Formats: sequence, structure tokens, C-alpha cells
Amino acid sequence: MKKTNLSKRVIDWYRLNGRKLPWRATSGAHPNPYVVMVSEFMLQQTTVKTVLDYFEPFMRRFPTVQDLAAADLEEVYRLWQGLGYYTRARSLHHAAQTIVNEFGGKFPQEYSQILKLKGFGPYTAASFSALAFNRPETVVDGNVIRVICRLFHLTEPIEQIRTDIVAKAAELTDRKQAADYASAIMDLGAIVCTPKNPQCLLCPWKEACQSCGNPDLEQIPNRTKIGKKEKNGSVCLIFNTKGQILIRKRSEKGLLSGLYEFPWTDNGTPNFEHLKDSGKQVCHIFTHIRLNLKIYTAEYETPPLADSFFVYPEQLKDYPFSTLMKKVCKQMNMDI
Ligand code: SF4
Repeated sequence: MKKTNLSKRVIDWYRLNGRKLPWRATSGAHPNPYVVMVSEFMLQQTTVKTVLDYFEPFMRRFPTVQDLAAADLEEVYRLWQGLGYYTRARSLHHAAQTIVNEFGGKFPQEYSQILKLKGFGPYTAASFSALAFNRPETVVDGNVIRVICRLFHLTEPIEQIRTDIVAKAAELTDRKQAADYASAIMDLGAIVCTPKNPQCLLCPWKEACQSCGNPDLEQIPNRTKIGKKEKNGSVCLIFNTKGQILIRKRSEKGLLSGLYEFPWTDNGTPNFEHLKDSGKQVCHIFTHIRLNLKIYTAEYETPPLADSFFVYPEQLKDYPFSTLMKKVCKQMNMDI
């Protein structure tokens, strides 16, 4: 089947079966690039289902790029709480400020210009460019990789054939209806060409697909894992005799930047006196490591660390905490 026919088929399928999402245009490019930008940042490493709970409250609070640019970063973090990967929130805020201060509030449309905005990697820039401006950029996310690998029966590990996957995805991209095509292929992967039990009978590409009916179908794409490094550390909940708990704010740079936390280390036990082992621990997967944290408690009357302070447990919800710290609270039956 010709490439143009494949594109047309999937777009026709999408118009009837695509997901209705609050950040989607009914057809073609979205009239408001800001809506696309916010959704693209939220969707990085996060499922549509999760983002649905956060998108509308965020847009109500920051309805325009100017509102977001003028906002305090801590408030942005607060609305981002639970989505994880807080670097995205900081980058989104920074990108909004660049658009307002350097582009007069007008969104750049060229892929090369978009790529210079903070937080826009090649995938987000391509997706934003296609969905907001109908530019014929090739969008390659996890869903697209799965569909392309199956369509062409590419069975080697993804990392070894990424260039080939991108080239094949580019050939299929509809140059005139780039926005609809991008949404269509992502939805095909999300709804029909799913990791398990793909619904090939409902697929607009079933006649052309080289994996349809093949017994190894669910093993495609080949996601041979590169093992994550494991680290064993600890976290310490420090209380005073008023029942308050010690927290501190992380620096504005690096992992979990700008968020609040209980003192923790990714290596060994915390350096405090009279530690008590709670017998509990949490495990958290970062992109680069698997972190196991044993939970300790200790008592101090004055903060033992610079830039730390005591708050009552019921005040914890007023501060943005990472998912890691929320897991710690949950283990210790504390509301956050
Ligand atoms: S026919 Fe099946 S395997 Fe092939 S693209 Fe469609 S859903 Fe995926």
C-alpha cells in the first residue's frame, strides 16, 4: 500500500475514533498554542489518564501564557504536585517567560526556534510544531515507535534502530495534515495497537502491516532493557516535642529542584543523633536509578540543618513535595 494511502487511512480512522481530549483541536492545528504547550509538557513521561486530572485546574489558574509567565514558580509547583518530574514545571514556566519577554507573547513556529525554548527536546518541539501549527514534523513517542515497529516488523532493540524508525515515521507523515496525522498515529498506538492484545481487526493499517497475525507481535517493539543502577539510602523524619516535623527546600538546580523534603541521602544512613529505625522503607524509580530509602526518625528541639525549619504535619500540604517524599509520608501514615 502506498504511504499516502496509509496516512489517509489513519487520518480517516482518527476522525471517527480518535480520543476527545481537552487539549485537542477537533480538526487541524489547535487555535491556541499555549494549550498545546502545557499539555505537551504534562504528557512527557506521564499518561493521558493522569494528565486529565491536572490539565484543567492548571489552565483555570494560568489561562494564558502571560499568566503563567507572571506566576510564582512555587505556585506552579503546587499545581504540578503529583505529576512528578518537576523539572518540566520549571522549564514550562521558563519557556512561558521567554515567549512573553523575548517573543512579545507570540509563539515561535519554526522547529529550530521552538527547540531553543527550555524543556523542548526534539520530540516535544516536533509534536508542538505539528499540533499547534500543522507543520510537517515527525512525532515519535512510545506509541508511534510501537506502531512503526509492528507495521514494518522491526524486531531489533529500539536503541539500535532508532534512526530507521524515525526515517520510516517521517515517510508516513502527512505533509498537509500534519496535526491530524500526529494525533492519529498516537491514538492508533494508544487505542488499537496496544502493547498487549492489539486490536488488529479494527486497525486501518491491517492490510499493510507486516506483523499482523504474527505470533511475536506482542514482543514488538524490542525494548531490551539497559539495567538501572540501584542505590540504598535513607530519609530521616525529625520531630520536636511540639510534634512538628523538620523540612527544607532543595536548591533550584538539579534533581527535584525547588521542592521541599525531609532530610535524605541516597547513600547510607543520615548523619543525625539517636536515630530510630522505623522498620519501613520506600522504593522509587528515577530515570537513571532505582532508589531504596530506609525511614528513620529522630528528635531535635532546634533545626539541626541550615535552611531547615519545623512545621506541623497538617501544614505539609501547603508545600510542594516530590512523589518520593509523598511515598515516605504514606508509609508513615502522614497526610500530605
Ligand atoms: S495491524 Fe495490528 S500490529 Fe499492525 S499496526 Fe495495526 S494494530 Fe498494530
